[in-house]
Amino acid sequence: MEIRIKVKDIKTESVWWENYNISDNETPFQWAIETVEKFNKTLKTGENPRELVDVEIIREKSDPFHDWKKENLVTIVEKNGDFYDKYKCNNCGITGKRYGLSQNIERDRKYKAKIYETCNGARKQISINKKRRERKKDWIKVYMLILGGKRWKSIRTYPLKRIKKIRRI
Ligand SMILES: [Zn+2]
Repeated sequence: MEIRIKVKDIKTESVWWENYNISDNETPFQWAIETVEKFNKTLKTGENPRELVDVEIIREKSDPFHDWKKENLVTIVEKNGDFYDKYKCNNCGITGKRYGLSQNIERDRKYKAKIYETCNGARKQISINKKRRERKKDWIKVYMLILGGKRWKSIRTYPLKRIKKIRRI
């Protein structure tokens, strides 16, 4: 889940929010207390002890299918005033965005297809795509050989059947 904690610098008395992704099994308040305690125990030069002021839950549960991790530290604001955060799945690596105050993370356009809904599906499709790309490279190589590398740009106009035939020779 995603939470934010309000902390106070004990010396300067300044107060601010910090966002965190924590495991769904954690108790946010407990986690926040421990995190601030740990920070105070391991202060570096120039750092002042902090005090926990408040804890808020931003997203109760992580996506049941993807383990989304926020990629940007500061929310991205577009020219038209829209804002979003970028996310990436820890397991399968697909990316998405959470717009405005929405609770949902939308998968990026190239991962829109239903198969990307789950980590397993996404992994499968990503490996299929990879194989496809490699096969395409092979075809290009074959054509480079046949056409002496002069007309390789026209590869897409050649039917697959013919490519297979040529490969067999
Ligand atoms: Zn995933």
